[in-house]
Amino acid sequence: MRKILFVCCLFSIANCLSAQDLKYYLPDSLTYNPSIPKPKDIIYHEVGEWHVTHDRLVNYMKALATAAPDRIKLETMGFTYEGRPQVLLIITSPKNQQHLEEIRQQHVKLTDPSQSSSLNIENMPIVLYIGHSIHGNEPSGANASMLTAYYLAAAQGKQIDELLDDVVVLFDPSFNPDGLQRFSTWANQHKSKNLVSDPNSREFNEVWPGGRFNHYWFDLNRDWLPAVHVESQNRLKWFHMWKPNILTDHHEQGSNATFFFQPGVASRVNPLTPDKNQELTAKLAKFHAAFLDRIGSMYFTKENYDDFYYGKGSTYPDVQGCIGILFEQASSRGHLQQTSNGLLSFPFTIKNQFTTALSTLEGAKALRKEFLEYQRNFFKGAADRAAAFATKAYVFGDKNDKAKTFEFATMLKRHQIEINELPDNWSDKDFEKGSAFIVSLNQPQHSLIRGIFDKTLEYKDSLFYDITAWTMPLAFGLPSKDLVAMPALGAKVESLNFPKGEIIGGRSSYAYLLEWDELYAPAAIYELINGGVLTKVATNTFDIAINSGNRKFDYGTIMIPVKAQTDDAETLMTKISAVAEKYRIRFYAVKTGNVNSGSDLGSARFVTITKPNVAMIVGQGVNATDAGEVWHLLDQRMNIPATHLEQSTFNRIDPAQYNTLIMVGGNYADINKDKLKTWVQGGGTLILTEEAVSWAAQNGITDVRFKRAKSATDSTQKLVYVDRPEIDGAQQIYGAIFGADVDLTHPLAYGYNQKTVSLFKANKVFMEKSKNAFATPFSYGSNPLQSGWVSKQNLDAIKNSAAVVVNAVGNGRVINISDNPNFRAFWLGGSKLFMNAIFFGRIIDAASARTQE
Ligand SMILES: [Zn+2]
Repeated sequence: MRKILFVCCLFSIANCLSAQDLKYYLPDSLTYNPSIPKPKDIIYHEVGEWHVTHDRLVNYMKALATAAPDRIKLETMGFTYEGRPQVLLIITSPKNQQHLEEIRQQHVKLTDPSQSSSLNIENMPIVLYIGHSIHGNEPSGANASMLTAYYLAAAQGKQIDELLDDVVVLFDPSFNPDGLQRFSTWANQHKSKNLVSDPNSREFNEVWPGGRFNHYWFDLNRDWLPAVHVESQNRLKWFHMWKPNILTDHHEQGSNATFFFQPGVASRVNPLTPDKNQELTAKLAKFHAAFLDRIGSMYFTKENYDDFYYGKGSTYPDVQGCIGILFEQASSRGHLQQTSNGLLSFPFTIKNQFTTALSTLEGAKALRKEFLEYQRNFFKGAADRAAAFATKAYVFGDKNDKAKTFEFATMLKRHQIEINELPDNWSDKDFEKGSAFIVSLNQPQHSLIRGIFDKTLEYKDSLFYDITAWTMPLAFGLPSKDLVAMPALGAKVESLNFPKGEIIGGRSSYAYLLEWDELYAPAAIYELINGGVLTKVATNTFDIAINSGNRKFDYGTIMIPVKAQTDDAETLMTKISAVAEKYRIRFYAVKTGNVNSGSDLGSARFVTITKPNVAMIVGQGVNATDAGEVWHLLDQRMNIPATHLEQSTFNRIDPAQYNTLIMVGGNYADINKDKLKTWVQGGGTLILTEEAVSWAAQNGITDVRFKRAKSATDSTQKLVYVDRPEIDGAQQIYGAIFGADVDLTHPLAYGYNQKTVSLFKANKVFMEKSKNAFATPFSYGSNPLQSGWVSKQNLDAIKNSAAVVVNAVGNGRVINISDNPNFRAFWLGGSKLFMNAIFFGRIIDAASARTQE
């Protein structure tokens, strides 16, 4: 049946209520090649009639590439966690397609100051990256991508020919395929034949965790810089392969808004972004305004959104000679929704996204030479910026944690940052050849390097859209130093080699030792325990003879006795070699239990480790990204399975089968509190982070006490109404970095070597130190701020507060962590604390955790 409802609403011709054929969207001034398939020919419905699923979206893109090979080349960038392809269409004129590789190479030379001067940009195409719906439940972008791709494939005439000659389009129809698929299923399954526009309807209220996130419940639009996720990693390869001049990022915002395009708030542009970037953004904005005016759509600029955090798609390009543009369309969420601006239809949202894709194309063509020149000058200027900057290079590396060092170096290489090996051990012993690298600031990526390493304490504004600091060496907990003179450089690192694992000293008939410092040590030990191997942890230090002489072992060293196993010595060695190799870590074979100093290996100071059986409370009310960070850490990095329990499931089942329960920030109104407390009293380890800490205290599970920040305003002050949002906003903690002082002898601190651990705080949970002097292993001193923005009132509350408090509750332990130790999966400096809570929470002795008798 071919029956399309065609009802236009009364107040706006543009705001049509129902699904539309292509005439509603496309400029009628052009003709279209009839041999190019229209979306409906492939996806079986009109654009905007249903929410396109990712599978059908890809089918359509493939069909276009097949039908218009002279204009479109389809590439598969990689696959998501759920195995969906990330496709990229490279769209340009037939003439350009024939020389695509040559065009790419010429273009990329613009970013190489040693080659760029001689390039002639007179006829050089501009490179435009168009990206859609990184938040899967902001679907108008991905749905509009079918229109833009059709237009670029099928439009006929001089106008399109000239456009395609001047522009190479890298076209990414869906930044977040798994999220788009999840959301489209939701929206479609709730669609009524007679569209229901009541915002209370289930169609507009997704179940947890919603379609915004990727598979692991992460916001991919915070991952451009850390690039933890496969989606980002695949995409970054193509970004750097082409070095686009403009990158657009099509989003949606609240349903009662209109349409936003950048520039955003001027005072919140990252200071590393050149003024010229914002100037060009504003020039491009004229095109968006004109195109939206033409179709009668309302919009706003210079408000709400900013260009500060380089992990966002519209900001990441800004520090690399490119211009990132954020678009935010008011969301219909489902198919048609009642809003304060009247009825908002899905097709109307799609039309605005398509229209601004056209305005970007037009702007890119018109401003082509200016953008190309800007890119060339940006990279040429890197040497001057380096000369004017006091720090000449950074050194980083952790000789005790090679994996973490490797992960950090890998992250830098993804951004095409050049790094060099350390040529020799440093005399201060802080950095060693083989486990440390140098980053020179005198290189094309100078500005981005600073965006990764800088500690920031000065800001023009006190309101932020996202976090205020992300200083990566602090986040990774990686020793690093700012060098004011260029040191001797070792070989340039072309490809990184993850250090090999081994058993030093070969087979032992007595015991093996493993230092806990390495990032993946918990993964290795879990695998061994799971394989039936008895492992113990040292609660004291010791010095013992190993193959190559004596060696000092720290608190938290793992000891595996040989004779106590059910396996024979040969089988045990095979198991240990396998994990050493898999996790690239070093075990030491020892021949004796007799130490030179400290505890002998048979001492009771070596405590047997119990296998963690982990469950995490998830579902409605729980902060999905916080929970996702735990899931990702355990599943992707540590290979530890964890059960995800809904609150109602917890209430129904016998929780005794788990010895470790995790609750991240969230609202736990539906959980059976008595059952939870009984479970802890019975010997469970309850790990709480952020607001879950205050929830547990308020509900009588712990006796943690809290500090409050002083109010910034009082009734004696003369304040004006219009300033309130700024004043209130300044009291938010958007996210900053604080250094906690650590008791390195405490089980929660095993594996740390530095007295100060950098933690990330984006909440107002300020714990008092415990009355028990041994129960606050991580605490903030009188000067805790390391990087980021925080108001004086909040800083005062953080000063001398507790970062981690341990509570003994019956036979169980509650580990209260006021901040987020796993933030966005790049806070590897906090993962150790979190893994320690899982492995060693239950060995903390009661007298060091009890606050009342
Ligand atoms: Zn968004």
